[in-house]
Amino acid sequence: MNALLTLLLVVLSFGSGHAVGQEPGTPACESCKDRGVVGCRVCASKPCNSERGFTFCSVAQECGECGGVRWLDCPACARPADAELERKRAELAAWRAGKREVEDVVAKRDLVFIDSQRFRLVSDLKKLEIKGAGNAHALAHLYLDRLERLHAEFVADSGVPEDKFTGPTTLMLWTSEKDQERASSKYTLEKATPLAKLMGKNPVVSICFGKGQLKDDEGLHRAVVHQVAHCLLSNAYDGVWLGNLKSGWIDEGVAHVYEQRYFGSVEIWCATTDKLVADAKLGRFEAHVLQALGQNSVVGLTTLSGQDTVALSPLQRVFGWSYCDFLLRHRKGSLGPLARILKQSKPLSEAVQSALQIGLVDLELEWSTWVKANYSAKRK
Ligand SMILES: [Zn+2]
Ligand SMILES: [Zn+2]
Ligand SMILES: [Zn+2]
Ligand SMILES: [Zn+2]
Repeated sequence: MNALLTLLLVVLSFGSGHAVGQEPGTPACESCKDRGVVGCRVCASKPCNSERGFTFCSVAQECGECGGVRWLDCPACARPADAELERKRAELAAWRAGKREVEDVVAKRDLVFIDSQRFRLVSDLKKLEIKGAGNAHALAHLYLDRLERLHAEFVADSGVPEDKFTGPTTLMLWTSEKDQERASSKYTLEKATPLAKLMGKNPVVSICFGKGQLKDDEGLHRAVVHQVAHCLLSNAYDGVWLGNLKSGWIDEGVAHVYEQRYFGSVEIWCATTDKLVADAKLGRFEAHVLQALGQNSVVGLTTLSGQDTVALSPLQRVFGWSYCDFLLRHRKGSLGPLARILKQSKPLSEAVQSALQIGLVDLELEWSTWVKANYSAKRK
């Protein structure tokens, strides 16, 4: 639950009793209306603008007056200090202290940290041209909201229950290559720029904002959506990454589905070369798959199965995308159970039968019928 909301509930449940002889409805303390606490004015101008909730925010925590809880014991009251406020303040301070390690790794002290139940965000973004998010704090909340939205959609589409993710996903956003190299070496175990990721139980994506595809909000958002989709699938159930377990089609397919859904196209290709992508001359994925169906040149699930992500050609990725698109939209709720069985290294035919109660051949038939009815042949 949103930290502020939790606090508000606590505050509202504080004693509303009245002094003996006092008119009902007339508070004894004008300042706090007998709640014993008043809102902190020092940080009132720096609200946490969050649509989807969060648990901790470092910018809120920095308030020297309230320590981030946004409330103070009422200075006009003779009541004893509120223990709940004190407890919450200490909890925030302890949480913030836990983030020192990241600051030490990059030797910086002005990063924004925001946590939610599912995500850990570390942001060094200062400013992007986005309405309503013109500073580092607002930007960090915006990106956390975007992560939460993606998580909610993935849960609804895939059928992976909320409580079946093995750990939070960490997203680190940097603006200097040096920071990216330091952080990626430490937290993703690969020193890579502009992007590095670690799949599994507690996935981490580290991105350096500023150049090439990552030089504006859309480019960054696109990369975040694509890479975090990889993370969510790898994190589901048991932290096993399917990309190197002979099910690359589902690993890359899911990432392409969300990138395509949000941005209407695919520009991010993991573990393949720009030349291979250019040579494939793919155009719109929907049109490509439709055309292949018409020409009897479909890449079947059996062909895709057995290959790691790194071994997939660009064309195979298009079909991986389409099968995932079909499972997430038409067979809503089935991709999660299917992935769960594939993560146990079971053959695809067995996993499909068990998760969808259908044979592989019949599933491909159902897929082709659905594609013909739902895809557009538009080339651009
Ligand atoms: Zn905040
Ligand atoms: Zn404050
Ligand atoms: Zn008071
Ligand atoms: Zn990818």
